[in-house]
Amino acid sequence: MAIIPGMTELTRPYWAAAGEHRLVTQHCRGCDRIWHPPLPRCPHCHATELDWRPAGGEGTVYSYTVVEHATHVAVADQVPYVVAIVELAEGPRIVANIRGCAPADVSVGMPVRVVFEQVTDDVAIPQFVPAEGDGG
Ligand SMILES: [Zn+2]
Repeated sequence: MAIIPGMTELTRPYWAAAGEHRLVTQHCRGCDRIWHPPLPRCPHCHATELDWRPAGGEGTVYSYTVVEHATHVAVADQVPYVVAIVELAEGPRIVANIRGCAPADVSVGMPVRVVFEQVTDDVAIPQFVPAEGDGG
């Protein structure tokens, strides 16, 4: 069973990009900074002239937890899984699952890269896997 992320007018550009397997962050035209998650105003200078910038999809695990007990029937067949805060190379932090390795192999500071988990024809969720070339 797939869980479809909730979308609002604020977050629709983020999910539209993810659906095309592109990772983007909000960007302020006033002070040229980026952040995540999306906000109606720049959190730095409060400008409302915002757009979206591509992110390279590389980052490191800033923090994480291993979910051992399913809190919803939709994820009952997925435990244990990792919920992490990934710090993108560009700076913003994003909450995602770490896929492609055992939960015990995840560590703080581990290099990761984005992958897109296709959940419907139009919706894909950014997730992260260990970066290639990482010796462990
Ligand atoms: Zn700003």
